Amino acid sequence: MKRLIASLSVAVACTVLAQAANAQTYPERTISVIVPFAAGGPTDTVARLVAEAMSRDLGQQVIVENVGGAGGTIGAARVAAAEADGYTLLLHHIGMATSASLYRNLSYDALNAFEYVGLVTEVPMTIIARPDFPADDLQGLIEHIKANADDVTYANAGIGAASHLCGMLFMSEIETQVTTVPYQGTGPAMTDILGGQVDFMCDQTTNTTSQISSGAVKAYATTSPERLEALPDLPTAAEAGLASMEFGIWHGIYAPKGTPAEVTQRLSQSLQVALEDPNVVERFASLATLPEPKENATPEALKAKLEREIARWKPLIDSAGVYAD
Ligand code: ASP
Repeated sequence: MKRLIASLSVAVACTVLAQAANAQTYPERTISVIVPFAAGGPTDTVARLVAEAMSRDLGQQVIVENVGGAGGTIGAARVAAAEADGYTLLLHHIGMATSASLYRNLSYDALNAFEYVGLVTEVPMTIIARPDFPADDLQGLIEHIKANADDVTYANAGIGAASHLCGMLFMSEIETQVTTVPYQGTGPAMTDILGGQVDFMCDQTTNTTSQISSGAVKAYATTSPERLEALPDLPTAAEAGLASMEFGIWHGIYAPKGTPAEVTQRLSQSLQVALEDPNVVERFASLATLPEPKENATPEALKAKLEREIARWKPLIDSAGVYAD
């Protein structure tokens, strides 16, 4: 028995030492960041910009993998079940908080299935429509929708996506429901808006700024508290009469539960470097968003934000009564 205990403690000590050594030499190979939406969309854009800058700091490739579907919950579930070695990460947004209340049977618990790396950025949303949509301002859009509710279509990236949340708030505000068309991400949804196959959507500025500026889509309002420097002609939703539609889509980086703290700390440091990278700052500004300040690119800040946001959205989701299995 004594011998068994001795060899067990040697085994445990070896594992602990191996983990410590791994944490010290981390990263030794390519890191995968799962984006739970389609390529070419707004979350993908944020992830690719940050991953490139983190790659330079970490001295290893940081690649983005798109695992879309079910409003971001498929990609999140994939990371929750991945090995906790620091080589599979998740970059997700506000959907991490809303899907915790929207889904009845998630395979992971948003608050307890992950280690936290840090907050990345908070992106405003914009309400846009196909280029030939017959409404030129927010009031006109609302009137047209109310008069043609059976014919109007709304694109979103599934229950739990930011576009779903924004559409849910908008439809409840104007007390009119329209048909929703779900996509794996708003990247492919934008293609259909541009092609006129679907009427309107609410999407992050990281996907819409250039299309709005070039006049390729119609734009009605932003959910930011102030007008955006990159889109100065676009009124805020509050200015246009929808005061409840003021919110931002915050993004964070997560690792599977059990990832060593040294690893998440190293990633957090690297995220802080990436967020001050001049190219990241400049590209974010051109997409009407700002990197989070250094002190928010930490595990503690992300965990606190997720806790606050789950508590913020739960009552609203419960009162809207929208659930998914
Ligand atoms: N942000 C998602 C995307 O990247 C879409 C969404 O949340 O609505 O496609």
